[in-house]
Formats: sequence, C-alpha cells, structure tokens
Amino acid sequence: MFISVSKVCLFFALIAQVHSAAKRRKKTYVELHSCDNSGIADEIASYDTVVKDIVDYVTKGPFKGKTYNDKRIDKMGFYTPVLLTLFIIITSEAKVVSKENVCPSLLGEDLMKEIASYEIVKNEIVNYVTRGEFKGKTYDELAKFVDTFGARLSGTAILEQSIDYMIQLTRDEDLNDIVTEELQVPHWTRGEEKITMLEPRVKDIALLGLGRSVSTPPEGITANVIVFNDFEELENAEEDEVKGKIVLFDPEFTTYGETVVYRTQSASKSAAKGAVASLVRSITPFSINSPHTGSQNYEDGVNKIPTAAISLEDADLIRRLVDRDINVKLNITMHSTFDTKTSRNTIIDLKGTRFPDKLVIVSGHIDSWDVGQGAMDDGGGLFVSWAAPVILKRLNLRPKRTVRSIFWTAEELGLVGAYDYEKQHRNESDNINFIMESDEGTFAPRGLAVAGSQKARCIIGEILKLFESINASTLVEDDSPGSDIAVIIRNGIPGASLHNANEKYFWFHHTEGDTMNVENPEELDLCAAFWTAVAYIIADISEDIPR
Ligand SMILES: [Zn+2]
Repeated sequence: MFISVSKVCLFFALIAQVHSAAKRRKKTYVELHSCDNSGIADEIASYDTVVKDIVDYVTKGPFKGKTYNDKRIDKMGFYTPVLLTLFIIITSEAKVVSKENVCPSLLGEDLMKEIASYEIVKNEIVNYVTRGEFKGKTYDELAKFVDTFGARLSGTAILEQSIDYMIQLTRDEDLNDIVTEELQVPHWTRGEEKITMLEPRVKDIALLGLGRSVSTPPEGITANVIVFNDFEELENAEEDEVKGKIVLFDPEFTTYGETVVYRTQSASKSAAKGAVASLVRSITPFSINSPHTGSQNYEDGVNKIPTAAISLEDADLIRRLVDRDINVKLNITMHSTFDTKTSRNTIIDLKGTRFPDKLVIVSGHIDSWDVGQGAMDDGGGLFVSWAAPVILKRLNLRPKRTVRSIFWTAEELGLVGAYDYEKQHRNESDNINFIMESDEGTFAPRGLAVAGSQKARCIIGEILKLFESINASTLVEDDSPGSDIAVIIRNGIPGASLHNANEKYFWFHHTEGDTMNVENPEELDLCAAFWTAVAYIIADISEDIPR
C-alpha cells in the first residue's frame, strides 16, 4: 500500500484534532513540517463539530467506558474508536487530500522567483552569525547583560540602567538612529512573603506573590482553605462556603493561554464570593517546587485581596488533604508597595534606502519579573532583536524599507510600553509593513507564527522556505501572535512571533529558574540569524506585505 505524504499528514492532523478536542490543547498539526501547503488544515478544521460529537459520545455518553473498563487504559479505549471513526469519515471524502495550495496563484511566478533569489543573502547572514565573526556573540552579550543587571522589574532604577546600557551597546556598533520615548509605568515591589501551613501540620509553602497583589495585615491572614478546579466550581459554591476562606485554584495546565486566566482573575473572582485571600497553582506543566509569578488584575468594585502562586507540589498536597476531608489552615503574610515611575521604550532604526518611512519591526521586551535573571523572558527576544540591525549594519546590507528594533518596557505589568507606542504612533500605523516579536523563548527556531491575510501568509510562507536548511520554515497560523505586538496586530497590521522549540519554556517562565542556564549559544545564533534574515528579506522585497 502506498502511503503518500498527505496521508501521513492527514493521520497526524487527525490525532492532533482528537487530542486537542480531548485535552483542549492548541491545534498543533500545522506545525508538521512536511504538511505545510498540503492543503488539509482547513478541511480538517471543518470537522471540529464531528470530532466533538464523537469525543462526547465516547467519553461522556453511552459509549463511555465501553471499550475498556479499566480507568488507566481508558485513553486507549477513547482514542481507538474516535480515530477509527474519524479516519473512515474523512478518507471517504477524497477531496480532503487533494485540496489545491492557493499560494502560487496569489503570489505569481515573478514574486516567487524574486523571493527565492534571496537564498544568497540569507546564506551570507546565516554563515556570518553561525560560523563567522558573529558566532556566539548574541549569547555572550546576553550573558553580560543579565549578569550585570539581573532581573529588571518595571519601574525600577535597574531597568532604566539596563536601557541606558543597551543604547550604549548599540552606539558602539555605530548605529546612532536611536530614540527613547518616556511613559509612566507601574512599580510594584515585592516585600517579605511567607505562607505557613498550620493544620494538619506545620510546613512552609513555597510561594510568589502575583503582580499588583496588596499586602496582608502585618500579622498575616490565617484561614482555612477551600479548593476549586475551575471558575465554574467557584460560581456554583454557596457564598457561606467561601466567605472568610483562602481560595486555592488548582486547574489542570492545558495551554498557557487557556490556563493563565486562573492567575489573572482568581483574586477578583474569589473576593467577589467573600474570600480573604486567593492562591493559584502555578501556571506550568512542570515543577521542582518552583512557584511562578505573573500579572493579575483586580476588577473594579471588588475587594482587593492578597494573591499568590504556589508550587505544583504544594497545590497537590493541599488538594490531597482536602480530598481526605482534612482541614487545611494557612497563615499568609505578604508585603508589597505600589506606585508609578517613568520608563522608556527604545527605538533603533536602520533606515531603508528607498522607503525609509516604511517599517519592518523586530522587537522584544527589556523588562522582566523580579525573579531569576529574565534571561529567557525576554532577554533572548531582546538580544535577537538588537542583533538584527547590528548584523545588517556589519554586513553592509541596507534593505529598501527601514528595519526598526523596539525594546518594549513594562510588558510584564500589562503591555504598558506597547499600549503607549500604539497610541503615540497611531498616525503612522499605515507605514508598518510587518511587525515581529520574540517573547516565547529563543530555543531552536522553527519558523514563524503569523497573523495576516491569506496573501500576507503566502508571502511569509514563501520566505520561510528559504530556511529549510536550518529547519526553520514552518508557518503557524496565529491571529494574535506575540505579547506586546498583539496590541498593534489587532488593528489589522500583519505580524509574527518567533516559533521555536520552546516545549520547556513554561517550566522556567516567571521563576527563579529563568537564568542563562536555560539559554544555548548555538540556538541563539540560529535565532539571531533567522530573525535578521527574515526581517531583511521582508524589508527588501518589491512588494509590501498586504493587509
Ligand atoms: Zn515575556
């Protein structure tokens, strides 16, 4: 039996579809390299309702448990009938695997040829960064930076000093088209934090207060714990059950995007039900008793209660005790201060030769949380975006449009720098040809997660083909890529974030573990080369990226 690539793609796409329906995960089938342009993604997506019907029938309906009556192997009993049924349905409709790739007709032969001609300059950049003079420089400069300044929390003097340092580092490369734009940013300072389990036994609980959390009284808050899996359980609970308690949200980690709402909203939702403090299971799939901090927002009109993240281990411990009807009593003591300070976005231009007003933006945020070194979040993104104009300048490669590098400030406390930039530069938003950000790790690059029209994605996809040699030619469709740049992309401006091998990113995210030990010099070189070459090609090709 002949098995074509598209059939293999179809099979993996099916597994991904079923998996995402079962686990509520982001679909991953478009990441399959050889499946790009096989034209099946949309078709598979159209089976969403059928998948859900079958999954519900097998997991919740009359077929539940029928295949295998052992809970541990229930997954097999689930996947097998679901996959088989779907495979029969989908393969019976032959059109699925023969769908045409629309890109060649949208782009035209001339543009495709033009893009292919950038192979030479792409090689020049990749060689210079991975084997030539720039080899190891991105890692070395990042290490010097984070070892000098450490964590760079919004509103701190150290963040401002690190911005001054980056400006000087850029000037040292003879790039002098640099401006900074001042804005007001939140300045939240973590003070002493401690949680002690008092009942059923005395034990320290590892914690990190969440951004903007208020303090407890000096003697702390002592109360019993009530555990919820999700917001629905909290909504359904009687007010008497929650009043005066410490709420612990213990959601299963699916994706960061889905699970993070328990960090950002749990304090307000718990307070609305009368809780005196709220804790959340750290938003991560992995832990060595490491709590993960992050931002949270108090809704208007609700009581502001102290809120913190605890480790997976301690969340599991409390959950097990409560499940055995054992009362868990905690003392939470947290201190913090909050005010506003002045910070700066930093903008570096390598002016275009023909269309200096047209911008291709590369970016990362310079601020970090107050734990670890902010090496991964977002030191890596900051330095590959710094490297792009530096490498082009060193190689004397001047594209037709301007390559602008932006170091956003105060991302972690709510994309504050990005909102300010969007407001200050709204009148020139038509000039943004393409905007990129790296803020999800700088591990081995795989390609780009791209927002934009079909033709925009086709052009980027064609450019990405040039990076097959470094395994970075995958295009993931994502309508809201990046963090800061989402503020600009939602106005209809095409853009992308770095798609990379970041499977372990959320192990370290917002923890003391975010240090240089997470970074790898070769992978950073590949990211810097990829980022620079992609920006150059987009800035130089004859066509604008269409809206
Ligand atoms: Zn970040």
